[in-house]
Amino acid sequence: MRLPFFNHTPTFDHGIHPVYHKETGHLPIRRFPFAPKLYVSLEQHIGKPAIAIVRVGQEVLRGELIAKPDGLFSLPIHAPATGIIEALEPMPSDNGEMEMCIVIRVYEADTQEVQVRYPHDLENMSGRELALVMQEVGVAGKGGATFPTHAKLIPPNGCTIDTIIVNGAECEPFLTCDHRIMVERAQDIMEGIKYARRVCGAPRAIIGVEDNKMDAVAALEAALPADGSVTVKVVETKYPQGAAETLITALLGREVPAGKRSSSIGVVMNNVMTLAYMGRLLPLGEGMTERIVTIAGPSVERPGNYIVPLGTPLRFLLEHVGARSTATEVILGGPMMGTTIPSVDVPITKGVCGVLAFGKKDAIPPQIYPCIHCGECVNACPKKLNPTQMGLLAAKREYDVMAEQFMLGECFECGCCSYVCPSHIPLVQQFRVAKYFLKNREKVT
Ligand code: SF4
Ligand code: SF4
Repeated sequence: MRLPFFNHTPTFDHGIHPVYHKETGHLPIRRFPFAPKLYVSLEQHIGKPAIAIVRVGQEVLRGELIAKPDGLFSLPIHAPATGIIEALEPMPSDNGEMEMCIVIRVYEADTQEVQVRYPHDLENMSGRELALVMQEVGVAGKGGATFPTHAKLIPPNGCTIDTIIVNGAECEPFLTCDHRIMVERAQDIMEGIKYARRVCGAPRAIIGVEDNKMDAVAALEAALPADGSVTVKVVETKYPQGAAETLITALLGREVPAGKRSSSIGVVMNNVMTLAYMGRLLPLGEGMTERIVTIAGPSVERPGNYIVPLGTPLRFLLEHVGARSTATEVILGGPMMGTTIPSVDVPITKGVCGVLAFGKKDAIPPQIYPCIHCGECVNACPKKLNPTQMGLLAAKREYDVMAEQFMLGECFECGCCSYVCPSHIPLVQQFRVAKYFLKNREKVT
């Protein structure tokens, strides 16, 4: 294993260097208009869906609680706009399933300032109390995983957290919203780190930033607290540098054991966007009503980073950036780990970091050829798995063998193996199918 010391930029073993397309990284964040109707999903986080507490015909103010959490591993939902509740109905989601949404008809003449807040005296709270107030803000992991942030920060029984790793790597091509938030809202990130450290008890935090974002490094360093509890470390620009396992290895030289969480080695990781929103909203007692999204791709006429109200339908968003007529494939997230969406009726949720639109010629799938056993996929895999063998087994649907003998469960679907395969074998897609089959065996057989 390459250790992250002294004479080179810290990184991890294997990985790839895709074409980055980070053209939007120099564009300031802009605010997006409100769509006439917002479709606010009750399932914007991993965990139990929120429970709606509003009725059809009710007026709501921007920032008002409209759905409460269902237990500790759930999050509340706040009205992203002032308007009237028009319906509670299922809408398509990025995973292809229908999800219950609160539909708000937005008052056009309203200023759309946040009008309802739920502030607390944070200074004298214990870490546990602070975690519960964090839950009220409704922040879910903004890197895409959507784990409720407060729950992630509470150390499991028997675990001591010594370091918060703050993920500013943003290694996926096209995405630059984390880059811009580091440049424009570094102070919010420091505030978020302060509260996160109080909840998990970590004495220090390290922010990892890839070396293609040196303006972000400068902005963060200018905002660092004087007590030395937070440091910024530059890591190599390499995909998937921003995955939990790879960034922890690059910055600390520690490996997360197979099947374990990072807390088992004293680490909790949060994304810069997550902590920036926590740092901005928590002192105000303000609920999450919007998020910053990178909108880019060859079919987008006006790409950039936009502050988008939660619940904005993609149809409206694509029209506004001049993409709808030419886009034939729309991906939520990055091109490596994102999801191709089945419908432009899918709304923006808390976990959507990017919307990428591709035209017909960009989306033609390449011809697939047989495996030539070149080993490129093995050399690229950051988890040191054997994608060659797993691919051959997947073709024969020997999913149990993949799991038992080739550690399929350790694959975090980064897509490096597919990217480098000269035969264009859709390896990661095969691995996703295998995992889905094993998880839902009863449903699919
Ligand atoms: S998708 Fe899975 S098997 Fe392929 S490179 Fe990533 S971790 Fe390895
Ligand atoms: S990269 Fe593709 S062709 Fe090469 S060994 Fe892996 S699966 Fe086979």
